Amino acid sequence: MRYAVLSDIHGNLEALEAVLAHARAEADAVLCLGDVVGYGADPVACVELVAERAVTTVAGNHEHAVAGLLDLDWFNPYARVAAEWTRERLDGDHVGYLAALPLRAEVADATLVHASPRHPEEWDYLISAADGLEAFAAFSTRLCFVGHSHVPGIWSLGSSGPEYRPGPGDVTFEHGRRYLANVGSVGQPRDHDPRAAYGLWDVEGGRLAIRRVPYEIVRAQRKIVAGGLPRMLSDRLSRGA
Ligand code: ZN
Repeated sequence: MRYAVLSDIHGNLEALEAVLAHARAEADAVLCLGDVVGYGADPVACVELVAERAVTTVAGNHEHAVAGLLDLDWFNPYARVAAEWTRERLDGDHVGYLAALPLRAEVADATLVHASPRHPEEWDYLISAADGLEAFAAFSTRLCFVGHSHVPGIWSLGSSGPEYRPGPGDVTFEHGRRYLANVGSVGQPRDHDPRAAYGLWDVEGGRLAIRRVPYEIVRAQRKIVAGGLPRMLSDRLSRGA
């Protein structure tokens, strides 16, 4: 079984479609780590596509914001404007679907969670080597996949010691080691590479690869501006930051 692991799509339909097309040849099924909406101009199309294509999806903070489960005071001004803009465009069925998503799920020997497995509802960011290594105690599966920071990276723990490899990379799982991986962001990468990012997890092969996929950035940017969302949300897509 090979899974495409998608996170932080953020209403960017151009990026989502490019990733799904890329994954079609490489993966048997799709998993989603949340933040399907927020920031981008196509929340409805992204929610419907994820609901149709992903076999398992967990909730992100943007799902909780749009569904009224998270106070918007926790958001920065751009995220708040985007959440309010998104909320106006989703109907009751969409909001009901997003509100019902679980905070964590298990697929094969992996835990799926948007932020940190420690307290998923607190939306902590795993940024440093220590952040990730401390989170291993909070999941019992061999693997854990996260998103939230929009920056790919792989932490691992085993008898030969802890390891943290920031940045996109491929890893073949070693016997006796456990792994925590951030698969990067489909719709709003922040690691200075504007291409969409997603993870390819080969369960039997014991491998994870972070893939980068070019997409029609200018088209996604024009829709953000035309929709009346903050221009900064358009500008950052071409910087990948
Ligand atoms: Zn996000």
